[in-house]
Amino acid sequence: MAASGRVAIWQPGFLWPALLLLLLLVMPLRGVRGARLYSEEDPLTILTSDTLKETLRNSSTAWLIQFYSSWCGHCIQYSPTWKALAGDVKDWEQAIRIGVLDCAHEKNFEICKEFGIHFYPTFRYFKAHSSSSDIGKTYRGADRELQTVRQLMVNFLQNHTRDDWPAGCPPLEPARSADILSLMGLKTDHYTAVIIEDEDSYVGREVILDLMAYDGVIVRRVLNTERTFMEKLGISSVPAAYLFRPNGTHKLMDVQKSLRFFFSSFLKLLPGVRRKQGPSALENAGGSRGQDSVEVWKEFDKSKVYMADMESGLHYLFRVELASHQTLEGEELKTFKDFVTVVAKLFPGRQSVVKLLETLLEWLVSLPLERIPYDAILDLVNNKMRISGMFLSEKLQWVGCQGSRPELRGYPCSLWTLFHTLTVQASLRPDALANTGLEEDPLAVLQTMRRYIRSFFGCRECGQHFEAMAKESLEQVKSLDEAVLWLWRKHNQVNSRLAGALSEDPHFPKTQWPTPDLCPACHEEQEGLHVWNENKVLAFLKQHYSSGNISPKYTSSNSPDMLPIQDKNAGLSSDEKPQGNQGGSLAPGGFPTRERQHGLDVPREASVNARKEPKPSMTFLVLGFSSLDMSLCVLLYAFSCVFLMLMFFFFRIRSKRWKVRYNRLYV
Ligand SMILES: Cc1cc2nc3c(=O)[nH]c(=O)nc-3n(C[C@H](O)[C@H](O)[C@H](O)COP(=O)(O)OP(=O)(O)OC[C@H]3O[C@@H](n4cnc5c(N)ncnc54)[C@H](O)[C@@H]3O)c2cc1C
Repeated sequence: MAASGRVAIWQPGFLWPALLLLLLLVMPLRGVRGARLYSEEDPLTILTSDTLKETLRNSSTAWLIQFYSSWCGHCIQYSPTWKALAGDVKDWEQAIRIGVLDCAHEKNFEICKEFGIHFYPTFRYFKAHSSSSDIGKTYRGADRELQTVRQLMVNFLQNHTRDDWPAGCPPLEPARSADILSLMGLKTDHYTAVIIEDEDSYVGREVILDLMAYDGVIVRRVLNTERTFMEKLGISSVPAAYLFRPNGTHKLMDVQKSLRFFFSSFLKLLPGVRRKQGPSALENAGGSRGQDSVEVWKEFDKSKVYMADMESGLHYLFRVELASHQTLEGEELKTFKDFVTVVAKLFPGRQSVVKLLETLLEWLVSLPLERIPYDAILDLVNNKMRISGMFLSEKLQWVGCQGSRPELRGYPCSLWTLFHTLTVQASLRPDALANTGLEEDPLAVLQTMRRYIRSFFGCRECGQHFEAMAKESLEQVKSLDEAVLWLWRKHNQVNSRLAGALSEDPHFPKTQWPTPDLCPACHEEQEGLHVWNENKVLAFLKQHYSSGNISPKYTSSNSPDMLPIQDKNAGLSSDEKPQGNQGGSLAPGGFPTRERQHGLDVPREASVNARKEPKPSMTFLVLGFSSLDMSLCVLLYAFSCVFLMLMFFFFRIRSKRWKVRYNRLYV
């Protein structure tokens, strides 16, 4: 019977639905899996925290490693150049190798901190035979064109001494003309090519490195200052190449153009010249290829803001971005304090996160230190003191900010979301910053954001662009509502600049936001031209980024408390609440019903749902103590105190009695 049942399942009628189901299950994953910025197919080594140190320690080759962040727009834009460079110098790998390490990958947070990577991309050179404590030499130049970086690689190789020279790297210094002339008429088992060039020219050294992976040919360079040598070989212009054949004959190399590529190709195609056999000994040296895990796509509603995005952003900001700074002092410390003040007072987050931010703020205010080691701040963020009820998840959980590929969106998206939420909160609750020193200032949030981006945001070029925009017009902002609109305008300016760029997620094209489906009333036309109705935009922003529109869906549930999202607007008067047309200086008339259907007057099911969430027994940090455990501890403690006191009185009374008895006897 069982067998017949099994056969029935595989009848054609059942096969197709089963296959369809399988396809449906697999399909959503296809969009989000796969490589980050670099993949196994690229001619470079993908390093991780597991392989970096082991690869560098006493490596027989030098390394040039790009520490990047897969969310950083400039890293995304730069990745084709880096791949092209890696392909261009592939044959140099017995002398110097190209690697990448993604600092945005959770696995690599610690190692990037250890190597002091503050900005992305950071280029580091590591000499051959480096020690395990070597954190490399940073290339700080602004020119990152392929040719510039390639020439820097040559310079870097030449900085090695005789003792630490990469084992497989041929000599790059000019040869003595006498040594070359001695080859005339000499029979050997290989070709010798000589590039005659200027002292500053890189052609000779590049051709030497291009041919190092080939047997049957040796390349040397001679400088054009060797006049007699040039005359003897009949060379009048440089760069030029001269070839000594194995049979002892010699002549000028016959290439169409005196360029690196022409010289190298000519030599590689000579009869008897072939690539060195066998797998490169270095092929196995460190470097894992690929590190992606399959992530499941999370369904989300684009008319909502997700708490999981903002919490993940805060996690990344506190534990990764800021943690790359060993100490905070001076302007950086002031920026950090203001940032914590603004977030602690305005972030409409879960109680456990807000408590953590408030505790951090109290601690910073109570510590009049001029210099704070970041580890102390991290201890607090990680709640090492085990204060109950404060917690910030250590998991990156992108929802509204998830990208169709792992390298897209994520952190920068969450940062925009956070700052839009903060400007809106400041406008909805103007008293929130009272007694912080930031009250009365309509620019408080924006200036804090500006300084944060300038000092700490890993994408330095993004920071420079943002700074330029702030310099241009920030001072014109005179009210909290204008601050909301300023950030919206500037964000749209960035969207417009980045539309079509490599960092754009094809599934989330950069458009002018909010799109007509989110807010039809925001869009108008004047004489055939699109214009924004800024009153409507302001109302929309105040609703969109209000606490009522923040969904708790996908927030991590392993926090010590799962209290509902704080509806800080609950205490506000009804006209301050972000309901449809009632926020701030809205246009009279407010939103028509149609707009309500587009999520402007959203049902508050998010908050309602959150309120309905059961309050689980409190787990106490990672140790897993429940609130019952904690109560028992307290009870035991109280009981021990009472017991000790009783014992104390008991022995005192007894000792008094003994004394009385003894004294009487004595008398
Ligand atoms: C301050 C700053 C400067 C940056 N500068 C650069 C740069 O110079 N070059 C670069 O390559 N990358 C830059 N980035 C990153 C870039 O802007 C995006 O954040 C990143 O490409 C991810 O884009 P995204 O599709 O997730 O949408 P994002 O632009 O990150 O937007 C996130 C969410 O905000 C909402 N939103 C969109 N537009 C607006 C708006 N106008 N007002 C309010 N809400 C809006 C939408 O819901 C959107 O999904 C910068 C990021 C920040 C925080």
